[in-house]
Amino acid sequence: SAPVTGEDEVRRLLREDLRGGTAYGAPQLEVAHALNTNENAYPVPDEVAEAITTAVAAETRGLNRYPDREFTALREALAAYLTHASGVTITPEQTWAGNGSNEVLLHLVQAFGGPGRTALGFTPSYSMHPIITRTADTTWIDGLRGRESAGEGDAGARFDLPVEATAAQAREHDPSLVFLCSPNNPTGTALDLDVVRAVYDAAQNAIVVVDEAYAEFARPGTPSALTLLEGRPRLVVTRTLSKAFALAGGRLGYLAADPALVDALRLVRMPYHLSSVTQAVATTVLGHADVMLGTVEAIKTQRDRIVDELPALGYESVPSDANFVLFGGIEDAPALWRVLLEEGVLVRDVGLPGYLRVTAGTPAEVDAFLAALARHPGTAS
Ligand code: PMP
Repeated sequence: SAPVTGEDEVRRLLREDLRGGTAYGAPQLEVAHALNTNENAYPVPDEVAEAITTAVAAETRGLNRYPDREFTALREALAAYLTHASGVTITPEQTWAGNGSNEVLLHLVQAFGGPGRTALGFTPSYSMHPIITRTADTTWIDGLRGRESAGEGDAGARFDLPVEATAAQAREHDPSLVFLCSPNNPTGTALDLDVVRAVYDAAQNAIVVVDEAYAEFARPGTPSALTLLEGRPRLVVTRTLSKAFALAGGRLGYLAADPALVDALRLVRMPYHLSSVTQAVATTVLGHADVMLGTVEAIKTQRDRIVDELPALGYESVPSDANFVLFGGIEDAPALWRVLLEEGVLVRDVGLPGYLRVTAGTPAEVDAFLAALARHPGTAS
């Protein structure tokens, strides 16, 4: 008989719920303009790069030892940054970090989800929320977004989270976790805090997670859910250094929540999950927050430029509080995705029929994107 292959054995032995699944996979292609993963287009500034090199050098001889398991210096830096950015006092005991906010989200599901428990989110939103949930053996519930009255070409209303309808779903499903995302990926818009308050009150047995990966790009007057933490011991706000802080390769995500909730995450994290190098890099970057965030205004300018210029090219643009723009009015999104790729511009097909998502890059990258679209105009009025 034919020898048994590795594929045969995996098919036989893999967890049943993972069989036939596909891995998260934004294509990592060599292109002139990579505008598909919402990275910060600007490199780490020289002065910070030098400070990082010095900080890492100071760690190298001590790499024979495990890192500080409690990442004390990093948590102090995170608390200081959040306090400065939000105007509400956040203590180090209220902070937690992981290798990207994806890991922090995993810790939350591992601690508060599990077999027989559910997590509720509102599609379209960050595609990793359901994947992380299922990985942690938790049932995902796809909640509904949008106003019933919203028609084609009215993306704002279509992707909105109305207070009453959203809270009603949280009440009805009584989940163990609720995922909100503000500004929402892929639609781009930030949430009114009334929605967070209403969902928190409606889902009495849930940890309510507000994923604020893109918070630093929000339009003026957009309050953070950090301002709601006081008196809400089940509320969690997650953030990352991957976007505004231009540190996607450094892998550092974090959260703020009640100290008791944070303490519970120690039960599921692997010991020493944040390497000495990661801690040194992230702490140094937070110590240079003003310099690192120096590109945010330029990115917002390009973001707004994309939103403003798309309609003249025959595409519908959705207003954005993030470093990307969802655009619609596309007859065949996969076809336009390929056309743009042939033009050297890689955008993201987020699986929403009629829509694609583009990251706001440098002025030159946005020039290239808009010029490519101008050669392939849409038909939206
Ligand atoms: N949340 C949202 C909404 C995101 O878009 C992303 C990155 N695409 C993340 C979390 C995870 O980012 P990281 O793990 O790099 O912090």
